[in-house]
Amino acid sequence: MKILFIEDDTIETMKLHRTVSKLQMRFDIVEAKNGEEALAVLRSGDELPDIILLDLNMPRMSGIEFLRILKKDDKLKYLPTIVLTTSENRADLLECYRIGIAGYVIKPLKYADYELKLQKVLDYWSVNELVKA
Ligand SMILES: [Mg+2]
Repeated sequence: MKILFIEDDTIETMKLHRTVSKLQMRFDIVEAKNGEEALAVLRSGDELPDIILLDLNMPRMSGIEFLRILKKDDKLKYLPTIVLTTSENRADLLECYRIGIAGYVIKPLKYADYELKLQKVLDYWSVNELVKA
């Protein structure tokens, strides 16, 4: 499964890699540091990801701005996008669901909890039928 991981924080990126490396299934992770970079990756002509994991607070282009553009794009709007954030802001959550997301996951502070939660998310997506581009 190919994941586009959109996150500005390098520690968060390391956490994801560490979590994924412990799983049986193989995940191919493509990284982008903000919404702009993510759109460039998606429009590069490379094979599209199966799912997108999206942070909300990022410089240049936030997760919500990225989501708005993604959902207006006739080709990219089908990509399941799961928000992965520390924001417990209810307005952010509602806005993301309104625009269209496949999940909203709050990152636990403790690494062990993060790992358990992320494993569940990835297990869930690994049994889903995915939009093959
Ligand atoms: Mg961030």
